[in-house]
Amino acid sequence: MSLGITWTTDWIRRTAEVIGEHRVELITLDREIGDGDHGENLDRGFTAVLAKLDGLSPEAAPGDALKLVATTLISTVGGASGPLFGTAYLKAAGAVGQANELDGSAVVALLTAARDGIVLRGKAEVGDKTMVDAWTPAVDAAAAAQEAGRSEAEILDAAATAAAEGAAATEPLVARKGRASYLGERAVGHRDPGAQSTALILRAAADAARG
Ligand code: ADP
Ligand code: MG
Ligand code: MG
Repeated sequence: MSLGITWTTDWIRRTAEVIGEHRVELITLDREIGDGDHGENLDRGFTAVLAKLDGLSPEAAPGDALKLVATTLISTVGGASGPLFGTAYLKAAGAVGQANELDGSAVVALLTAARDGIVLRGKAEVGDKTMVDAWTPAVDAAAAAQEAGRSEAEILDAAATAAAEGAAATEPLVARKGRASYLGERAVGHRDPGAQSTALILRAAADAARG
């Protein structure tokens, strides 16, 4: 079963919901190693996205919905994560083009383009204690699942699980990018907020695919 506009908008709605539910948790993580606004930033952004989602044409393609997320996040979120996630959704939209249905390889292309956009924009590598530490294992797991012939839902489930593990694995790291990099050893023992929100976003994608 391929994934169309219904999956895409369901993913976006579930993301807004889960970010709202985890707003305080993300704020707390960012208070520990940043400036405490990550939950606030993303909640504001996805609330703005939700307000625009109903205006999407019934004929819209998944890429149109992703582009709506991109432009809304870029204009409402600010900080480091606004342009980073905005670029991710913009590149994801570009990767799927005007396709109405996304098969496994399109799902992998979407995730890969999102990650590549974040890396292009933020120049972080795996191990720098950023959202890239969740995105890159997610992309790798998705690609492996796709090559093993798994369904779209299984590909997204693999990505979400790997992102959650990647987010947890940021805890012992010293940060080399973003605000947490100013803290040196004091960032050790704290999870990166952007890696955690990435795991939530990708879990929402997998949940939407299971229906
Ligand atoms: P700000 O740091 O401007 O307050 P947020 O709190 O919304 O922005 O987002 C912080 C998150 O952004 C970090 O937890 C990290 O995951 C991510 N981040 C910061 N800088 C980079 C970067 N150069 N590359 C990738 N991700 C980054
Ligand atoms: Mg912050
Ligand atoms: Mg900030």
